[in-house]
Amino acid sequence: MPETRTLLLLPGDGIGPEVMAEVRRVIDWLARRRNLEFDLSEGLVGGAAIDAHGTPLADATMVEALAADAVLLGAVGGPKWDDLPFAIKPERGLLRLRKEMALFANLRPAMVFPALIGASTLRPEVVSGLDILIVRELTGGVYFGEPKGIETLPDGSRRGVNTQVYTTEEIRRVARVAFELAGRRRGHVCSVDKANVMESGVLWREEVQRLHDEVFPDVTLTHMYADNCAMQLVRHPSQFDVIVTDNLFGDMLSDEAAMLTGSLGMLPSASLGAADASGRRRALYEPVHGSAPDIAGKGLANPLAMLLSFAMCLRYSFALAAEAELLEAAVASVLDGGLRTADIMENGKARVSTRVMGEAVTAALGKLA
Ligand code: NAD
Repeated sequence: MPETRTLLLLPGDGIGPEVMAEVRRVIDWLARRRNLEFDLSEGLVGGAAIDAHGTPLADATMVEALAADAVLLGAVGGPKWDDLPFAIKPERGLLRLRKEMALFANLRPAMVFPALIGASTLRPEVVSGLDILIVRELTGGVYFGEPKGIETLPDGSRRGVNTQVYTTEEIRRVARVAFELAGRRRGHVCSVDKANVMESGVLWREEVQRLHDEVFPDVTLTHMYADNCAMQLVRHPSQFDVIVTDNLFGDMLSDEAAMLTGSLGMLPSASLGAADASGRRRALYEPVHGSAPDIAGKGLANPLAMLLSFAMCLRYSFALAAEAELLEAAVASVLDGGLRTADIMENGKARVSTRVMGEAVTAALGKLA
């Protein structure tokens, strides 16, 4: 019996639908040429859902997302919806998905394609061969901890409070994801905290070490303070394989690592939830970039971040590692061949539209397969 793979596509706003169209091209290719069927459905999120249903994510779409093997999201937001109240802004649709799907592990790879090495602000020899995966805890820590708020003190001055808080279970479940992924990569996890000055960091370090010793002794584990990690990422980034860290440090370190690779249009991401009894994890895949209203509808968007997000989906949600590698190799070969969208354009290269880039990747799949 053919396996069913349910995939919900949420193109969203701005360039979201344009880059998602290129994923559909790859999905068609996989169905025709590799006999891989996906049970596809498409829904609205963000501004598009507000226009249609008055809410950034309809309940029916949420139900579909919870039932799907994986959700692929383009981007949300744009000036049309900027003045709406916070509770019904486009971004709330994305936040609802992350919350109700309980996506606690955010995966951000930072890979440098040889053809784009010149796009990094660092010297080529520093970023050459770079392949880091940052696993960021996404639902706990200082962004959610209580108490939080701003209060007025008796003398009229004000006090702002946020609380950094982690439990054993929150630390162990994200560390487990990092160890499992490292086991499929180069086998090294660097856990990042501020155990020198924060009790929550002491707990983080102890729990990660304990899980390692109990369950993952074959993975190499090192610990690093977050400030040192920020420096090491620009000094000698290729020392890292998988970095696991909390919500706050992960927010910053993943953006720093992303910039080692050059362009926003090249950066994929995945967010994973807990595994159920069958090992299936709820998962949302999306490019790091936003809806880019400044270039929407002009055929200028780089679809590669979206396509690389789909490669992560093939790898992590559907255990199609060979197809994921094929898609990544197709992207690399198109870049080697000199095709560039406007955001990664260099002298001497051929500037192409979103659609032509997507067609070229699909053609490369055919050649490499
Ligand atoms: P953005 O990522 O949309 O754009 C930043 C700059 O990068 C723009 O100049 C844009 O043209 C360019 N860019 C982004 N993606 C590109 C691509 N694939 N190809 C070529 N160029 C690309 O960020 P912004 O301008 O700060 O935000 C625009 C809207 O997107 C806002 O409404 C914001 O709230 C929303 N946003 C959504 C998400 C998301 O859906 N996850 C993330 C960030 C921002």
